[in-house]
Amino acid sequence: MARINDNFLKLKAGYLFPEIGRRVAAYTEANADKASTLIRCGIGDVTEALPKAVQEAMHKAVDELGCRDTFRGYGPEQGYGFLREAIADNAFAGLDISADDIFVSDGSKCDTGNILDIFGKGNTIAVTDPVYPVYVDTNVMIGNTGEGDENGRYEGLVYLACTAENDFVPAIPKEKVDIIYLCYPNNPTGASATREQLQAWVDYALKNDAIILYDAAYEAFIQDADVPKSIYEIEGAKECALEFRSFSKNGGFTGVRCGYIVIPDSVFGSTATGEKISIKQLWSRRTSTKFNGASYPVQRGAEAVFSDAGKAEVAALVEHYMGNAALLRTACTELGLKVFGGENAPYVWVACPAGLSSWDMFDKMLSEANVVITPGSGFGAAGEGYFRISAFNSRANVEEVCKRLKALL
Ligand SMILES: *Cc1c(COP(=O)(O)O)cnc(C)c1O
Repeated sequence: MARINDNFLKLKAGYLFPEIGRRVAAYTEANADKASTLIRCGIGDVTEALPKAVQEAMHKAVDELGCRDTFRGYGPEQGYGFLREAIADNAFAGLDISADDIFVSDGSKCDTGNILDIFGKGNTIAVTDPVYPVYVDTNVMIGNTGEGDENGRYEGLVYLACTAENDFVPAIPKEKVDIIYLCYPNNPTGASATREQLQAWVDYALKNDAIILYDAAYEAFIQDADVPKSIYEIEGAKECALEFRSFSKNGGFTGVRCGYIVIPDSVFGSTATGEKISIKQLWSRRTSTKFNGASYPVQRGAEAVFSDAGKAEVAALVEHYMGNAALLRTACTELGLKVFGGENAPYVWVACPAGLSSWDMFDKMLSEANVVITPGSGFGAAGEGYFRISAFNSRANVEEVCKRLKALL
């Protein structure tokens, strides 16, 4: 019989969102009359239409493919030059990142999981708690952890607590780790990291020969001019950090699928015998073998995000979602709840009313307010006692959620 990868059996209770899906499905089945007015602020998925500039670019690209003279087959695995250059020039202007450092993909979820292909066994890996579950589960699947406990914590991972006391940015660990996942602006807490905090992490990585995997999926939502948008704004980061970016949240590409990793030439790992090897070289090799590129119409759509019209439309989308976040923040604050995030990120992170656990609050919101939120404990043990409200919604829905919250509490 074919042997399976036993590591999969270590995974706890499945990914958070399937569990939410099961509870919502059971609820709507039992309460069919309420299904049409259910408001979903759970999963972090955008709701507004694709920018016109993106739509036009994708239509045009499909027409090109539909004509023999302009047809294109396989493209470069690492992404078309036109997109890699647009990214380098626009998203990293002034940061000395070149088109050659950019690897275009079908999204950041895949990238943050796939990157583990090029790292060996025996690394000490640090994740934040709470955390984007993909970082943890992909390490479990590949065999980088032991068993999980009842809180969903896996043996062998270093958990860096993110709490209200440290503004949801973890303290530098005492021990030496080899790989650190950081995500700012953060999902789920909505926190952002200051220049000083990121500098401390870069300094730590340089001192310990560690690599930072920096997920900047929510960079477009930063409002505060002092908050760094890229890890490469931090001195020394080009020697120790990879950056993951996505068109999902800024351009509304969650269904279209496009993201990229930035890997400067100066980031190295080591072989078992201590020889320094370029991370970029390994990722390029891995990409050529396991990937055939993001689709051409999608890459043209992504390029259009950086056109003048595209930039203006993305700015309007961000303004819309951040307006929602401000309304949610105000409503929760007026109810006397402790509110975090929602200022440089589209997530509002709220302490549950006294006596309620994260899943208690989830069930209460679902059954009494007909609103889906995300229980903080689903993101890690330190998320217990919190819930996340996503600002990705229509204005009318967010106003209704605020009303229902006020009626509920
Ligand atoms: C949404 C999100 C992404 C982007 O994922 P895609 O696969 O590009 O849609 C990456 N990281 C985090 C933390 C996210 O929340």
